[in-house]
Amino acid sequence: MQVQKNNDNGEAIIVWFRNDLRLADNPALRHAADSGRPVICLYILDETPGVRPMGAASLWWLDKSLKRLNEHLEKLGNKLVLRKGVAAQVLDDVLSHSGATCVLWNRLYDKASIDRDTAIKTQLKDAGIDCQSFNASLLNEPWTVQNGSRQPYKVFTPYWRAAREHLTHVVVEPAPKSLKAPEHFPRSESLASWKLHPTKPDWSKGFDDWTPGEAGALERLDDFLSAPIDGYGEQRDIPGVEATSRLAPHLHFGEIGPRQVWLAARNAAEAGDAPAGEVEKFLSEVGWREFNHSILFHWPEIPTKSFRPEFDDFPWKSNAAFFEAWTKGQTGYPIVDAGMRELWVTGFMHNRVRMIVASFLIKHLLIDWREGEAWFWDTLLDADLPNNVGNWQWVAGSGADASPYFRIFNPIAQGEKFDPKGAYVRQWIPELKGVPDDLIHKPWTRPERLPAAARPLYGRPIVDHAQAREKAMEAYRSL
Ligand code: FAD
Repeated sequence: MQVQKNNDNGEAIIVWFRNDLRLADNPALRHAADSGRPVICLYILDETPGVRPMGAASLWWLDKSLKRLNEHLEKLGNKLVLRKGVAAQVLDDVLSHSGATCVLWNRLYDKASIDRDTAIKTQLKDAGIDCQSFNASLLNEPWTVQNGSRQPYKVFTPYWRAAREHLTHVVVEPAPKSLKAPEHFPRSESLASWKLHPTKPDWSKGFDDWTPGEAGALERLDDFLSAPIDGYGEQRDIPGVEATSRLAPHLHFGEIGPRQVWLAARNAAEAGDAPAGEVEKFLSEVGWREFNHSILFHWPEIPTKSFRPEFDDFPWKSNAAFFEAWTKGQTGYPIVDAGMRELWVTGFMHNRVRMIVASFLIKHLLIDWREGEAWFWDTLLDADLPNNVGNWQWVAGSGADASPYFRIFNPIAQGEKFDPKGAYVRQWIPELKGVPDDLIHKPWTRPERLPAAARPLYGRPIVDHAQAREKAMEAYRSL
């Protein structure tokens, strides 16, 4: 690392932003601001080999989020420096041209990021550069919650019980009021030159309901705590009702942190503005996010390998036609197709439906969960390595505290239970608009009552549920 310390930036500090695109409750930024030294705010579109590149939907979100972050920084008299490349080389270059003597960041917990950050930290220290990292994205870091034998938990309920005991003093730092700018900013690339927003075609029109950025995240939380939380426990499983917070992409990009969510929700309950039981249920979902981070940290190979190794011998079937039908929402099962179409159009899918479509791919089509995970990675706005891998392995039965493999979701029964009037299905599958409620989740049983437009796809699903179920059980028994 070539560092030239003498220039006119007087001991500047670099804050390397990653999944912490906010000003409030950002310990690395707060530390830099409190020092009174000039601060260089840097975002690197990282090309380090081994670090998983973001999917297309995530890049859409990143584009808007970086724009908002820069606007917020400009209000503090600073700005965001953007660079694309291998993180270690970019940092080297920015350090040597800026004369900065310190680099700060907030930690990430997947193996590729940890390996990269550890190597960078060693290089920086060898070059005499001060370097510190902080926790911005978790209530508890993975190594702080252990069982009586000082081992990580593999089961959620005891994990969350233990995790909560650490949460008696949750503190949220406000955004800094000012952020001293350097005399000279290092070279920055333009956001537009990164071309993160899709063109030709622009497939992102259905993403317009989202407001990426810190202000949008806080507004989502406020809106959720002011009403939908009242029915969260019961309604969160109904895809036709907007009863969940939709904070997932904001949490993933760190536009809001879990400490902020925790405190706001607890305060709402204490003030009597939100029912305490609903708040607890909601926070336990945030707890699953924590649990998945902990599992990924302690079992770093799970993005490619089963948490339960016996599943690595599962007899997956490769079937491009089935996979394509699944991605396009053309399986002939309305609840599956509606979910996949919702995902394609909006970059989001309701949690209950995520479970149904994942189960369908894995168990009805016998396609490897990693193929589904990769599709979600590319199309979800909230694509998040610990949560995506953790949930796919949960559905596959191969993960930590997973749903048993033999619990195979029946897409008809799931549809009838969670979307009884077909409101959700009709929203995403216009061909089914005229189909009566009693047939909406099994339209092929009375093909003569189907509108002509629905007959090609909904006259016969791509696999028969009972037969597929039997084949899935056979595959499982072969393990
Ligand atoms: P809410 O119900 O309002 O929950 C609040 C927060 O808790 C969420 O924003 C999220 O951060 C967390 N949370 C909720 N449910 C879960 C869960 N099951 N596991 C972990 N954290 C949870 N979530 C992601 O954030 N990124 C992913 O890539 C992702 N992939 C998934 C893949 C599959 C196959 C399945 C079944 C689920 C996946 N989830 C993923 C979990 C869950 O579906 C989403 O977090 C949730 O739907 C987001 O909606 P919300 O913000 O309205 O959630």
